[in-house]
Amino acid sequence: MNADVPPVVEQIYDDVLRRNPGEVEFHQAVREVLESLAVVLTRHSEYTEMKTVERICEPERQIIFRVPWQDDRGEVHINRGFRVEFNSALGPYKGGLRFHPSVNLSIIKFLGFEQVFKNALTGMPIGGGKGGSDFDPKGRSDAEIMRFCQSFMTELYRHLGEYTDVPAGDIGVGSREIGYLFGQYKRITNRYESGVLTGKGLGWGGSLVRTEATGYGAAFFADEMLQARGESFDGQRVVISGSGNVAVYGVEKVHQLGGTAVACSDSSGYVVDEKGIDLDVLKQVKEVERGRIGDYADRVASATFVEGGSIWDVPCDLAIPSATQNELDGDAATTLARNGCRYVVEGANMPSTPDAVRVFREAGIAFAPGKAANAGGVATSALEMQQNASRDRWTFEHTEARLEEVMRGIHARCHETAEEYGSPGDLVLGANVAGFLQVAEAVHALGLV
Ligand code: GLU
Repeated sequence: MNADVPPVVEQIYDDVLRRNPGEVEFHQAVREVLESLAVVLTRHSEYTEMKTVERICEPERQIIFRVPWQDDRGEVHINRGFRVEFNSALGPYKGGLRFHPSVNLSIIKFLGFEQVFKNALTGMPIGGGKGGSDFDPKGRSDAEIMRFCQSFMTELYRHLGEYTDVPAGDIGVGSREIGYLFGQYKRITNRYESGVLTGKGLGWGGSLVRTEATGYGAAFFADEMLQARGESFDGQRVVISGSGNVAVYGVEKVHQLGGTAVACSDSSGYVVDEKGIDLDVLKQVKEVERGRIGDYADRVASATFVEGGSIWDVPCDLAIPSATQNELDGDAATTLARNGCRYVVEGANMPSTPDAVRVFREAGIAFAPGKAANAGGVATSALEMQQNASRDRWTFEHTEARLEEVMRGIHARCHETAEEYGSPGDLVLGANVAGFLQVAEAVHALGLV
């Protein structure tokens, strides 16, 4: 903990450690928020009296369930499913589902906790939650994915509802999986309840811009950061890790805004393309063929593939880590700083380790935490819920304009809050305090429930 954290906050953190043994990612996420709250608690004694922080750190409900399914050869598999319904003071639980072998309760809790503040920062009426499974979709056939999704939903459906809990995608869950999940929910409940899941296909209740939203949103946020320092995307060299939705559409928007994204990656390594990543090829390789990032370099003469290496060795002005949690450590941060990087904007959830964030701070690198910079995805999910509730369909332009407005608004709130609480330019403090205040006010107003 920071030296200036008051004993009451230390105590809350100790209780979180004691109650959630071994959940290192969850501890990391909680600690990062608590370190920002000293300034708030000195101004709001009611939050200490009513144990508002303690209540926000404890999920409202945690569901763990068995997911049995059969592969194409008839072999039976048992996976574990999770849904952590973290906080519903601002609206129904909202947050994605992650299918990845690394998934465990700690990871889902850290993601759910982050989601609470992220969703609050959007200013939209959505609470926070997260779910998923340790199921590994890699190499699985369409039929296997469908059977897994159906089994997963057969257990989860009883906890969901458009006014209760509204999942979406995350790593390993895209519109194909949302389709199978929605189909099973509809079959079991006999309700065409469009608003129960977001990230749906465009022909059956989905929203335009949802696929692009997280990547676009991170780029809009970066643009605001640049403008706040009297700069623009023009001529900026950008490195974006990952090659999923966030990275692909991050590249697209960075290019539209005038920057050049020169590198992206997957778990096998990274590619550098000094001419700027060719979006058509990247989409063909990763979205259509579901191939490896090395395939990009096989097709583009100006690109080189570096197997296994760290993408953070590639010099850049602006880095957008968009792969997964803790992908950028202290050493990588030092390399980035040494190579002249001036901005880090988190496209993924908590991709920078606490050591990395310390390095950014010491090096004077402007840093945007994921809960602010990657909120575009969930914000557009809330726009999808609005369209579903009003049985309406918005145009791409209208939806994108709403997303842009939300992202620029989040930046403004984080920026102003940091100033108001005595740490100008500190977007970590700004995001944590602004998000916390929004949630805490509602939690407090709703009484001891
Ligand atoms: N998984 C995304 C996130 O981390 C989106 C969640 C949603 O749309 O509900 O925010």
